[in-house]
Amino acid sequence: MSDGARDLPVGLLSLQGDYAKHEAAFRALGCATRYVRRPAELEGLRGLVIPGGESTTMTRLIDRVGLRGPLRDFAAHHPVMGTCAGLIMLAGDLADEVAAHGVQPLGLLDCTVRRNGYGTQVDSFDAPVVISGLPGADGTYPAVFIRAPRIVRTGPGVEVVGRHGDEPVAIRQGRLLGLTFHPELTEDLRLHRAFLDLA
Ligand code: GLN
Repeated sequence: MSDGARDLPVGLLSLQGDYAKHEAAFRALGCATRYVRRPAELEGLRGLVIPGGESTTMTRLIDRVGLRGPLRDFAAHHPVMGTCAGLIMLAGDLADEVAAHGVQPLGLLDCTVRRNGYGTQVDSFDAPVVISGLPGADGTYPAVFIRAPRIVRTGPGVEVVGRHGDEPVAIRQGRLLGLTFHPELTEDLRLHRAFLDLA
């Protein structure tokens, strides 16, 4: 990305979910943000975050406002980070039709995820995860998992950059970054910074 693009705002898909927490993280890094609720708002952005929330609702709203095609076009040329429900929306496909519950992912990141993959008993927890391969963010990171998806398949072009035990929890395909957890709910800004550096 050119130096000029570094002055552009990061877009936050703001149809639903905890986009305001991402806004606070980028502000703390001195990076401007813009809410994205319609296709024209994707113009002139440095990258985009699809936040955590509820992927069933996000699917409905993305299609209602006509953002499905524009989001796919945008992701072909810009960095995009999907966190939790945002990763579900980035995924290639979803495992388990019942769990998928009508969610239609954008089909951008070559992976299969299972919604609510930790079940109902342990559906929310904090755990240290190990990030490697994201310059500036390598090391242990305090991850917050809330009704998190599980990544059950990754394609050949996908790099696992974060693990909880043996399990992938952060993946990267070029400038697309998918996290099963919520980096916006900790004080640790390394993953937001690493995302900005992906450009
Ligand atoms: N379980 C939610 C979904 O399927 C994701 C939860 C979250 O984003 N914290 O959309």
